[in-house]
Parts: sequence; C-alpha cells; structure tokens
Amino acid sequence: MLDEKIEESVDILVRAYKTHGDSVVFLTSFSMEDNVISDLMSRAGTGIKHFTLDTGRMPQETYDIMEIISNRYGIMPEIVFPSTDEVENMVRAHGINLFRSSTSMRELCCETRKIRPLNRILSDKRAWISGIRSDQTGFRGQSEIVESDPLRPGIMKYNPLLNWNSDHVKEYTGKFMLPINALYSRGYRSIGCAPCTRAVLPHESERSGRWWWEDGIKECGIHAPVRFKPVMREEE
Ligand code: SF4
Repeated sequence: MLDEKIEESVDILVRAYKTHGDSVVFLTSFSMEDNVISDLMSRAGTGIKHFTLDTGRMPQETYDIMEIISNRYGIMPEIVFPSTDEVENMVRAHGINLFRSSTSMRELCCETRKIRPLNRILSDKRAWISGIRSDQTGFRGQSEIVESDPLRPGIMKYNPLLNWNSDHVKEYTGKFMLPINALYSRGYRSIGCAPCTRAVLPHESERSGRWWWEDGIKECGIHAPVRFKPVMREEE
C-alpha cells in the first residue's frame, strides 16, 4: 500500500518538474509531510527548489529541523521573510500579539507574515508543490492532486500527498528514518508559529492545536480562504 503511494507521489513530482522546470517550487514548513516530499524529491532527482516562510514567530525547533533537513538533502531552501515595513506598521497599529485580539487581527497577521510573502515568491512562478492531505480540513478534502490554485489564478498547484493519511506519513518517516521536528514528540501534530500552535490530546483533531482559541476553519490562507465555508453534500 505504501509502495503504491510512493510511486504515485513520485510520478506527480516528476510530472510537475517535466511540465514546469524551474518554474515550479516547493513550499516546505519542514513538517513530517513536507519532509516526506523532500525525501521523495531526492529519489526522483527532480531538483525542485525548496522555499520556506519565516514569519518571525517560529519555534526554535522548526529552525533546528530546517537545518537538519537542509543538510541531509544538500538543499539550500530560500527563506522568505515578510516585509519589514508591513510588520512594523501592523505591530505599531495593533500590538505585537494582535492575533489574540480577534479573528480579523489574526487574519491580518497571517496575511502579512505568510500570505503576502508566499504570493511574492509565486508571482513569477507557474506552479508550486504543497504537502497538504485531504483528511486534514474540509477545504483540503475538496482539493485535487493537480489543480489550478484556487486562491492564485493562473498558478498550478501539485499536492502529491493528498491521498496519504497520517499513518502513511508516519510509516514512511519510520521506514526511511526521516528526522522530525522535536515538537511532535511533545504532542504537537501540526506545527506553525509558536504563539499560535500548541500540543493536542490524543482524541483531538490534528489541527485543533492551531489558533485553539478560535472556532474557525484552522486555515491561515495559504491553502484555503480563511473564511472558507465547506460545501455540504446532500446527505449532510
Ligand atoms: S500563525 Fe499566528 S503569529 Fe503566525 S502569522 Fe498567523 S497569526 Fe501571525
């Protein structure tokens, strides 16, 4: 079963590279899923450029795994930062921890620290690769393995792990002894910025530790509109 998933995902990565060459990039947060993709890329020999978003609020453990993975695969990820002017203006107007005050302030922070830098990177690219899985959120469940980016017209998005579940990711990680972010061993299951991520209990959902004080959809705007409303099927 895992072998089939590996083969399918490698095929997708090879297809992305053959189709777009240097105009396709891989956005990694050095999550377990993204590290699987880095490993698959090394098997496929695609040479697709890695980039990552440094929001300025990341946990130290994420910088540590960034360095470990970069050394393991000999990659030099492009680290993309938000605009200094935009962050300074936002903090001056709304405070350093504005994301705690309201959902709209949280969205402003995510837009400033994540979405605009991502859009800047993609502005001269034709496609990008993400490590989302369909079982993570409602919007991700409606994604396709190869799709037009629903948030960035004209840009293609490849989701090679869309049909994997967390057990597949864990199995791959164990089988090929991939290093992982140390926070996973402390109960974290989805890792983002330090002030907006916490460990979860075994019965809680994977993304419930993200912005846990909100009832929302647990998306920052990279993969889904922050105010996404899931499409209800008839039987629901
Ligand atoms: S996750 Fe939190 S700290 Fe990070 S960009 Fe979003 S609101 Fe800001």
